Amino acid sequence: MLRRAPTSSLQRNKTERRRLQGVMRQTTAVEGQELTSKIKDKTLIDKYHTWLINGGRVSLIFWLYIFLHIIVWVLGFMHYQLKDSSAGIREVISFGFPFARTAALLLHVDVAFILFPVCRNFISLLRQTPLNDVIPFDDNIRFHIATAWSIVFFTFVHIGAHMYNFAALSIAFATPPGAAAAPVQFLILNFATGTGITGWIMTAALGVMVFFAMEKRRRAPNGGFEKFWYTHHLFVVFFVGWQFHGMFCMIKPDRGELCSFNVIGVFWRYWLPGGLIFITERVLREVRSRHWTNVAKVIQHPSKVMEVQIKKEKTTIRAGQYIFLSCPEVSYWQWHPFTLTSAPEEDYISVHIRVVGDFTGALAKALGCDFDSKDEKAKKGGDGPQVVTPPLNRVMPRVMVDGPFGSASEDFLNFETILLVGAGIGVTPFASILKSIWYRMNSFNHSAPTRLSKVYFVWVIRDFGTAEWFHSLLHAIEEQDTQNRIEISIYLTAKLKDDDMHNILVQEVGAERDAITSLRAPTHFGRPNWDKTFGSIADKHPDTDVGVFFCGPPVLSNQLHTMSIKYSSAKGSRFFYGKENF
Ligand SMILES: Cc1cc2nc3c(=O)[nH]c(=O)nc-3n(C[C@H](O)[C@H](O)[C@H](O)COP(=O)(O)OP(=O)(O)OC[C@H]3O[C@@H](n4cnc5c(N)ncnc54)[C@H](O)[C@@H]3O)c2cc1C
Repeated sequence: MLRRAPTSSLQRNKTERRRLQGVMRQTTAVEGQELTSKIKDKTLIDKYHTWLINGGRVSLIFWLYIFLHIIVWVLGFMHYQLKDSSAGIREVISFGFPFARTAALLLHVDVAFILFPVCRNFISLLRQTPLNDVIPFDDNIRFHIATAWSIVFFTFVHIGAHMYNFAALSIAFATPPGAAAAPVQFLILNFATGTGITGWIMTAALGVMVFFAMEKRRRAPNGGFEKFWYTHHLFVVFFVGWQFHGMFCMIKPDRGELCSFNVIGVFWRYWLPGGLIFITERVLREVRSRHWTNVAKVIQHPSKVMEVQIKKEKTTIRAGQYIFLSCPEVSYWQWHPFTLTSAPEEDYISVHIRVVGDFTGALAKALGCDFDSKDEKAKKGGDGPQVVTPPLNRVMPRVMVDGPFGSASEDFLNFETILLVGAGIGVTPFASILKSIWYRMNSFNHSAPTRLSKVYFVWVIRDFGTAEWFHSLLHAIEEQDTQNRIEISIYLTAKLKDDDMHNILVQEVGAERDAITSLRAPTHFGRPNWDKTFGSIADKHPDTDVGVFFCGPPVLSNQLHTMSIKYSSAKGSRFFYGKENF
């Protein structure tokens, strides 16, 4: 009987070794050994350049944002502390006044920024401008979250300062005068004044939004995202409350125009630019969702993935973009993002959807897929991809599409050499990119030629079935790519069963094609050796800017980010890291 051997120790036979792709065949590094020639002697300037192209811009923007807050805080505090028209109130509540007012000012600054990062059409437009080289648009959601935390922080400062102010005012102006009336006065100020009531309503709305938006709750399967999504609409209550909050003008100046329109209730002025763009985007979604669409084909793939091909009017896409999809038969209100796997050169759009939860499960059912029934699988002849044929008396449900929107992967055409790394379903952005590159390299469908001369595509998968998802695409690429401009490397990370391993070994002997994928490129067992991959690319492409694009889990993303920094040098190859998060 065959003994189980560690998959990493599987030896490749001669034919197979000949088939090994260039970057994997490179012998400049062996397992676990670093290509130190590439990474030693980095000067400070080298390090600075590398840092700047790999995440440094995000840090710079972040620190700039903090600096802006510090400046506004200092200037605002001085203003409210020295403003002579508020000397009277300062006599009663002292530092409570400038603290509350300056925190409110910073909240206004934050609200001016909070909506821009979630305006996807706006960001997709800006991506097409030179601003894309300066502002890290891929980190839009991180910026939104950072701004939200700033709002939470200054809300605490504002409330804390006002609690102190209310206490001081209650003691000073309690009616009838005396310590006994002060607590009642304090409660009145909190819950029986317009300012107090709107303030607490806003705080409650903010609290609920933040609670359900926390990463762990948001990512909780089966409903976590929906709770986050629906409760986030409390932003309407929050914004409306905020507008009225200031208009009640609780703390009045000593003289001048008391509570003039120019001084109070100015929330809308800060909110307006972002708010208008946000509303326009929402209207756009309504308009787009009414465009004609037709589900042209549904293919059920192994490992619970379905491919949906949709014909849609008025849609132009770029490779690497994503759309939002809704299916009213499943839920009118839910919109889920999926990366396009079709190329711009094709006359339909397609997505590959992994069935993971409520929405994707219900959508799969509505589109006629059956991932559960064993009988069904047997009927359809095993585990390969199967075109779903709906019963004659049943039409495919309607789907609504919003987008497409830009993503990090869109920038692939800026480079001569790229490394595309997908993990599991994270391969989807690269399917579209590979198709498009293939069309361009072959100048099919009148597609524009490309300066891109070398593509390394690494796909890390867990099981055999996954390799089927883009089987025909990868085959077509291998067949047509006579100049070996696209190198495919597939890594299978699951432990193999003895039987499977035996079959593979038998089939591989002397074979020209891989036993698992039937590609010429052999499947590798275990995890990629990133030192070897990056080192080899740096060796083969000296003085080249290499785009590294990744989609998959954060752990792998961090590894690739580290490698991009490690193997970049100002005078040699520079790796530009870009990631996409699901
Ligand atoms: C930009 C982007 C591109 C994506 N592309 C693909 C793709 O090509 N193929 C694919 O299979 N999956 C893709 N996803 C993930 C996909 O959107 C979720 O798997 C899907 O929404 C799950 O919905 P569910 O109700 O079935 O699962 P649930 O069990 O509700 O959720 C499973 C996971 O998906 C997340 N999720 C749920 N709803 C949403 C939503 N509306 N927006 C964002 N995340 C959500 C949850 O936080 C959770 O982590 C992409 C996600 C993003 C953000």
